[in-house]
Amino acid sequence: MLIGHHLRVDSGGNSGVGIEDEGNHGNDETRLFILSSLAQSQMSRVACILCEEPLLVFDRYPLVDGSFFLSPKQHSSGCIEVKYEGRTLYLTCVCMSCLDGTSSSRAINCRFCKEPWDGSSLVLGTMYAYDIFAAMPCCAERFKCNNCFKMLMHPQQRLSFYSDYSHGVTCPYCNTQDTHFVKPLTFCYAKTTATRLPTLA
Ligand SMILES: [Zn+2]
Ligand SMILES: [Zn+2]
Ligand SMILES: [Zn+2]
Repeated sequence: MLIGHHLRVDSGGNSGVGIEDEGNHGNDETRLFILSSLAQSQMSRVACILCEEPLLVFDRYPLVDGSFFLSPKQHSSGCIEVKYEGRTLYLTCVCMSCLDGTSSSRAINCRFCKEPWDGSSLVLGTMYAYDIFAAMPCCAERFKCNNCFKMLMHPQQRLSFYSDYSHGVTCPYCNTQDTHFVKPLTFCYAKTTATRLPTLA
């Protein structure tokens, strides 16, 4: 089991808090894991989970113009199933532009608290072994049980490791065992510029 570094507690707000290195970036093990997983599925490219643009995967670092991560939930059918440290997870990718979120067409906001999701602090071209969306909970909605919607944590409470949010938890109210903090992306986020202009005739 990979154990990450302790989360920095930043009392001055969220601005300075980023996802810390969990020690598996840029190593050969991670590189070979991604390449062999894709080869088994006969894939040489992946699609960004947010904008769906195709991304080539290279056999050297940086592996992709974005970041890979492993989620316990399959955010889209293009995310292939992998076995990682005994767990069944899904290999997911976010492109650099979407991580950055600077272009308004790429930015996504929490549907509940409206806070923009910011992936600009993530290391590019490698892989996180946990769900990067779950790892950055913005508001109390993120701490609710996926089944009974009761709060599983105090809204001010935070888990010790970013990867903790991707682990299975049993809800004390309804007894449902799930990775409750990993939510479907469409449930949590909306595109900032959701207004599509009607096609002019
Ligand atoms: Zn993208
Ligand atoms: Zn929120
Ligand atoms: Zn529950």
